[in-house]
Amino acid sequence: MKSTMQEAPLLISDILRYGQQVHGDSTVVTVDAGGHRSATFSEVATRAEQLAAALARLGVQEGDRVGTFCWNNQGHLEAYLAIPSMGAVLHTLNIRLPADQLAYVINHAEDRVIIVDASLIGLLAAIKDDLKTVETIIVAGEGDSSALGQTLSYEELLAAEEPGFEWPVLDERSAAAMCYTSGTTGNPKGVVYSHRSTWLHTMAEQSASSIGMTEKDRILVIVPMFHANAWGTPYGAFMAGTDMIMPQMFLMGEQLAAIFNEHHPTLACGVPTIWNGLLQLDSPVDFSSVRAITAGGAAVPQSLIEAFEERFGVTIVQGWGMTETSPLAAFGLPPARRIDGHDDMYYKIKAGRVVGGVRVRVVAEDGSVLPNDGNSVGEFEIRGPWVTGSYYKDEDPSKFHDGWLCTGDVGTLDQQGYMTISDRTKDVIKSGGEWISSVELENAVMAHPDVFEAAVIAVPDPKWSERPLVCVVPKPGRSPAPAELVEFLTGRVPRWWLPEEWTFVSEIPKTSVGKFDKKVMRAALAQGSYEVQTTSPAK
Ligand code: ADP
Repeated sequence: MKSTMQEAPLLISDILRYGQQVHGDSTVVTVDAGGHRSATFSEVATRAEQLAAALARLGVQEGDRVGTFCWNNQGHLEAYLAIPSMGAVLHTLNIRLPADQLAYVINHAEDRVIIVDASLIGLLAAIKDDLKTVETIIVAGEGDSSALGQTLSYEELLAAEEPGFEWPVLDERSAAAMCYTSGTTGNPKGVVYSHRSTWLHTMAEQSASSIGMTEKDRILVIVPMFHANAWGTPYGAFMAGTDMIMPQMFLMGEQLAAIFNEHHPTLACGVPTIWNGLLQLDSPVDFSSVRAITAGGAAVPQSLIEAFEERFGVTIVQGWGMTETSPLAAFGLPPARRIDGHDDMYYKIKAGRVVGGVRVRVVAEDGSVLPNDGNSVGEFEIRGPWVTGSYYKDEDPSKFHDGWLCTGDVGTLDQQGYMTISDRTKDVIKSGGEWISSVELENAVMAHPDVFEAAVIAVPDPKWSERPLVCVVPKPGRSPAPAELVEFLTGRVPRWWLPEEWTFVSEIPKTSVGKFDKKVMRAALAQGSYEVQTTSPAK
């Protein structure tokens, strides 16, 4: 039997129209070192119509890929709305990718047009000669673009067009946007989102069990728009009428503090390293407007959550997801019903609770599905309408298992849907046949008052196969001794986890999106760049 419901495809143009008509007065503020500029959703939507008209005039057709090589700013938001709505495919390019990988993803996606922010011209120019499919480069903002050869001006293109582009009715399953994983191993892999997947993800994000953005909110979007759709916040904001604050730069602690002090966000989202940086500031930060900070993309240390609560009265909520999952798949609000009477912190340090609409399971190495008992450790697999079912132009089936995506994350799932991540499969430390969780060990070390950051990698060991090496960045003016750290860890982690090998560095290498880069750490160790100090084994 068929339903009586109307056949209305889930299209991004409807998110655009809704924000334009219903939340036309909500604002987007682009902040950079020199100040800020503001526009209403209504203005942004009108400019999106003009952008679509300009791209159509340049010959962009349904299914064509249009790359963006841009910061978080108003223009990028216009591209987020216009390109999918006209039926083309938004390809967000990571401005921090190494040159060879950047050329690879542009060629692999076969981008026809690229929109580049003027301040990023140099980075794009460096690979220009390697680009095989790009016909047109559009420069947003003022700058000398001669290094790119012939280019077009974003503002001039828009000025030549009338508002009122007629958004086509598309198949909701057609490609809307694509994003490549940051490629910690091998070449980046392309994930292609559909209109439908983007819509459903947006609705999940709107839920009060999730980020729950509303018209009363002002969200500070620190997570880059070139990474995992800025966690879906652009579409979420347009749907909810949430004001957006977009920093057009990579933020250091002082600049971030200035944004909080001047723009008073109620919500903010970014990777944990960003928030850790704020703890080191001596100058005051005004968090009085903030109702929650969302942190994810990497494990959020308990010490960080506690410090924000105690020093600033700010709640950090953890989310979990991947480029492959749009990205939101779990969100860490504590439950109303507690099974064993646990306190809030017990839940806050978990990766999150699976959001309604996706399914997560834990799978053993032999492929069998393990119980959701909070104890059985295995790899997470995930399935759902905003989870990728393959990679773009990639036949490799190894990341999929019976239609589920193998996440590469290892951990446990409890009966209420809370995920605890102990590691990525490639980072686990196998010691004497058992697994040591690098994530848990890092969190325990980072709880020491003299430690700013800590990351743990495996080192080969003749007796135990692998042992942990802890890489520590001390707080300024502090120099914790390894023996003191071992003593601190005693009782906080299982005795056989207590590390014997330590190295002290000024910085932990980070990926293009600010996560600990363990691949680079392993290479540094192999090249002898780390001076390793040894403490006597606990065993
Ligand atoms: P990359 O592989 O470049 O890091 P993604 O940004 O897609 O690409 O990262 C997804 C991964 O980030 C997840 O598979 C997981 O390992 C990690 N991650 C995301 N959120 C969390 C979290 N809350 N806790 C621990 N790890 C997380």
